[in-house]
Amino acid sequence: MTKTLDESAVQSADNVWTMAQSQLDEVARLIGLNDSVHKYIRYPKRILEVSVPVRMDNGDFNMFTGFRVQHNMSRGPGKGGIRFHPAVTLDEVKALAMWMTWKCALVNIPFGGAKGGVICDPKSMSMQELENLTRRFTTEISIIIGPEKDIPAPDVYTTPQIMAWIMDTFSMQHGYSIPGVVTGKPISIGGSLGRDKATARGCLYVIDEAMEALGIPVEGARVAIQGFGNAGLHAATLMRDRGYTIVAVSDSRGGVINRTGLDVDAVIKHKEATGSVSSYSGGDAISNKDVLECDCDVLIPAALEKVLTIDNAPKIKARIVAEAANGPTLPEADEILHDRGIMVLPDILANAGGVTVSYFEWVQDLQANFWEEDEINQRLKRIMTRAFRETYQQAQSYRVNMRKGAYAVAVGRVAEATILRGLYP
Ligand code: NAD
Repeated sequence: MTKTLDESAVQSADNVWTMAQSQLDEVARLIGLNDSVHKYIRYPKRILEVSVPVRMDNGDFNMFTGFRVQHNMSRGPGKGGIRFHPAVTLDEVKALAMWMTWKCALVNIPFGGAKGGVICDPKSMSMQELENLTRRFTTEISIIIGPEKDIPAPDVYTTPQIMAWIMDTFSMQHGYSIPGVVTGKPISIGGSLGRDKATARGCLYVIDEAMEALGIPVEGARVAIQGFGNAGLHAATLMRDRGYTIVAVSDSRGGVINRTGLDVDAVIKHKEATGSVSSYSGGDAISNKDVLECDCDVLIPAALEKVLTIDNAPKIKARIVAEAANGPTLPEADEILHDRGIMVLPDILANAGGVTVSYFEWVQDLQANFWEEDEINQRLKRIMTRAFRETYQQAQSYRVNMRKGAYAVAVGRVAEATILRGLYP
């Protein structure tokens, strides 16, 4: 599904890199990180900026600028998406690459962090122009990507079709098929079963763990979800199937609430027919702002960044906030929620199911041996459950919130790998 620009979950570029570095600095103090290692992991390992000439449909060449940033590869090849967006900046890509390092380390998959971006407006480009852009960008960054080096994936406005072009371009240059160069591919060329629901499924598994840790029964627990795209829609169906009651959902046009529970399948049908959940008649209309503040046990922000702020954090009624979206909670709101006893499952934990199944895709491609969906889901559950427990344990032992607990686990693992490998030369 192609995303629209106003639906994008693009992080604001304002100081986002400084923010990522400050988060690391704070955790470094918390865990007493070795100074030399701290300095080392504070910077990206490698930045490649490329000019991408593209033949447009009118025959002219246009020049685009693209980036691939590899933050840290002490634990394995780089992993991270490629974003096509007019507002992409190098600082933003650097921050996203660093966050990928922590996310992969937290779920303990053998990848480092990387990210890519091309400054372009895919909405104004034809399929042919997008293909030309993708193939030339792939060629320009091909000197640093590869199944053993750095494995891109989809991100904002990059689709399975774009991943297929990346895979084909890289394969043509080497003279044979190399599906493991990229994940998020269509199933027919080496994609993995279960990838489409992986983010939502991983989110469900960590919410289940949080419910148990807090002693809240699943049966009848009420869930509100902001965002009804890949992450939000699948979260609604999976959580409904697990026994939760979905009381409110929303998308960019607004939301709907029914305190006794929404008929999720009917809401999906309504969205397919009208393009939005907002006018669904089996509940009352509710604004996006009010969805966040409604009466529920679990709140899942699954749309945009920076929606939980100093203003609404005091009004949140949920006992658990699961960040399916990247960066939905501002730092000041984090503190308020923690002080109010609300458990926030941070993005690097709550939405790590996506990169985890990307890892499975890479493993299957390397082995040319494809797994059943059941096996994928079982393995995902083991990894997510373990990551939750390790985060919870660290949060408790340092007496900090779950975000800092997750960073403590992740940064600790990257530091350990860095120390063990030593400094070359
Ligand atoms: P998507 O484009 O499929 O869906 C986004 C949804 O948010 C749409 O329903 C859209 O209508 C809604 N939305 C847009 N503006 C809104 C607003 N102002 N208020 C309420 N809803 C609004 O995107 P997605 O893949 O589901 O990603 C959502 C979030 O999850 C992003 O932050 C993304 O980075 C994160 N995430 C997704 C994955 C994944 O595998 N899809 C993995 C990790 C993180």
